[in-house]
Amino acid sequence: MTSEHAETALSVVIPMYNEEEALPALIARLRPVLDGIGVPYEVVAVDDGSKDKTAELLGDFRHAWPELRVVRLRRNSGHQAALTAGLHRAVGRYVASIDADLQDPPEKIPEMLDLALERQLDIVYGVRNDRSTDSGFKRRSAGAYYWLMRRLAGKQMPAQAGDFRLLSREAVEAIKALPDQQQVYRLLVPWLGFPSGEVHYQRDERVAGETKYPLSKMIRLAVDSVTGFSAAPLRLATWLGVTSFFACLGLLVFTVVAYVSGKTVPGWTSLFVGVLFIGAVQLICVGLLGEYIGRIYTAVQRRPTYFIGYDSADEPALRLSPARFEGRV
Ligand code: UDP
Ligand code: MG
Repeated sequence: MTSEHAETALSVVIPMYNEEEALPALIARLRPVLDGIGVPYEVVAVDDGSKDKTAELLGDFRHAWPELRVVRLRRNSGHQAALTAGLHRAVGRYVASIDADLQDPPEKIPEMLDLALERQLDIVYGVRNDRSTDSGFKRRSAGAYYWLMRRLAGKQMPAQAGDFRLLSREAVEAIKALPDQQQVYRLLVPWLGFPSGEVHYQRDERVAGETKYPLSKMIRLAVDSVTGFSAAPLRLATWLGVTSFFACLGLLVFTVVAYVSGKTVPGWTSLFVGVLFIGAVQLICVGLLGEYIGRIYTAVQRRPTYFIGYDSADEPALRLSPARFEGRV
């Protein structure tokens, strides 16, 4: 551990994408909470290639708030990649992560820190015990997601724990050492299995602006979650194959009987249905295989999941620092 880690007790990582509307409210609520803890801290605002005024606003806020550190990614890389960038750059003894839209209450961060210190915990999950402010679709899709993930990834994953959590330096280092490319932290962190606790909270409505998680990104997260943590879908392909095989055996007997009894002509419908069904099952199985091969492919390529464009912590040595051009993590 470097001396830098020892100086900063807490880092708060906030991924943000086009959050110009939520940003002023976030800063106004977060700063008093963090100042109130009374330990040296840094806020790592990861601007995930925003196209609105987020970067400009962050620059302005930084003048009045020296603890605010701005890390800008060169392009939009997605929530989990932005979190990765923040975790890799944070120097705190403990690292909290929170969304920029104030759906998770920053007031819980001191509680998380207290709990971690008191009970020597490496992980403190923020668990939502009420999602009544989310839309019906979001609630149902989230319910299905957590149900599936707990079945696939194991029960150590707390239901309804998103990306609001606190990690110790040891947990952060353990995560940094993992070779995973497409991290899904809500699964990766429970997988660590380090001593953990929970802080419960009510999920508020987004303070301003629109959700940055359209259906396409939600589906991507779900696919990454499943393929990253379970080979069960591949087994599903095997089971489909086995079932189809036995069904075929039955049909084989049927065709032989039909042949022997001379009723072989009116078989068009069953033949057609059979061909379509087998074709569909095969395509699904190839698609499943493809998802895993895609993961292997990305893992072999070892391309970075994000590119740092700027880190305000590098500023004093800006002209000399090669860190500005860092791509690999
Ligand atoms: N986010 C991001 N990059 C993206 C999409 C989202 O950094 O490509 C951030 C976003 O700014 C927010 C957090 O991820 O801080 C969660 O997104 P959002 O609140 O829109 O998701 P929801 O709560 O609707 O699931
Ligand atoms: Mg949100």
